Amino acid sequence: MNVTGYDLIERFEQFAPPTLAETGDPIGLAIGTLNKPIQRVMVTLDVRPEVVQEAIEKQIDFIFAHHPPMFKPAKNLISDDPQNEMYFELIKHDIAVYAAHTNLDVAPGGMNDWLADLIDLHHAETMTVTKSRPYKKLAVMVPKENETEVREALTQAGAGNMGSTYKDCSYTLEGIGRFKPVEGAHPTIGDIGKSEETHEVKIEFAVSEQDLPKVVHALLEAHPYEVPVYDVYTIENLSEEFGLGRVGDLAEPIKLQDFVTQLKETFGVSGLRYITTNPDKLIQRVAVCGGDGGKFYQDALKKGADVYITGDVYYHTGHDMLADGLSVIDPGHHIEQICKPKLKELFEQWCTENNWHLDIVSSELNTDPFRFS
Ligand SMILES: [Zn+2]
Repeated sequence: MNVTGYDLIERFEQFAPPTLAETGDPIGLAIGTLNKPIQRVMVTLDVRPEVVQEAIEKQIDFIFAHHPPMFKPAKNLISDDPQNEMYFELIKHDIAVYAAHTNLDVAPGGMNDWLADLIDLHHAETMTVTKSRPYKKLAVMVPKENETEVREALTQAGAGNMGSTYKDCSYTLEGIGRFKPVEGAHPTIGDIGKSEETHEVKIEFAVSEQDLPKVVHALLEAHPYEVPVYDVYTIENLSEEFGLGRVGDLAEPIKLQDFVTQLKETFGVSGLRYITTNPDKLIQRVAVCGGDGGKFYQDALKKGADVYITGDVYYHTGHDMLADGLSVIDPGHHIEQICKPKLKELFEQWCTENNWHLDIVSSELNTDPFRFS
């Protein structure tokens, strides 16, 4: 099936809704249009002139980036400027550019979860909560004999998932349903013009806002009635929390110094910086935040982390971390390149699910500006 930019982005934004992004983050479509068929998508961490050349050579029509290409807005369109020249090249070759930045960092199963998985953190939880969203309650009335099949269809679609620790939560009440089908109705139970009473149950679930459309879809598919009765309302006292960074535990305690050596290999970096008063100290609880996370280090401390992994740590922040007794490992910002294989994998999965004909290409360039000597 042919795919447009809209199709891909609509699916992506169910996974990482733009509402999860930090205020002022220039996420979303930056160049071109979503309103065109696409065939070849390239995933990249950064959009740099050399990446754009790579995209042109590979006949890409859509670039999906983690870092927004126009972080600083253009003040003119004079093409002598290398940044502007890059925009010209993209427009000339009809390559659209879309970026998912802090919404991808925050998304469950997104950047920070990828990094936590990579370093094998167990029981990873959010480090810095940035957004919360009330759960919805879904109540559905169903004939008693259909209770199990409807409940199972709904839980399979995500109803009753309470965070990562409880699944399939529901509550059932028995009652009497009353209705009178009139002219034009095709009732499953009862006859036209005759009042009916049926033995029904009401099943209630908490549902995350994100899962609600697919849960309602499953309800409409599984419910035996022509017009299923269900209510959706907002739960005022129960919210899902989203945020930056993850904190979890390593399977075994390890000496900080050895962990540093191990991380060099895990992240494939030829050097990294670290801050500690004691390289021999045993660590087990680890916080990680992709990108520039120095400003959140107090949250790593509050969550009991022995060590905090993040990029772009500033000199004076390093002094504060040291004084506060937190060990920190800075493997650089470029470790976020993990987004390339991970996004490719996700997009390929969606292609299979939707029968989309789309080539997903991962940029082969290393966009890390830093080298180690
Ligand atoms: Zn970043």
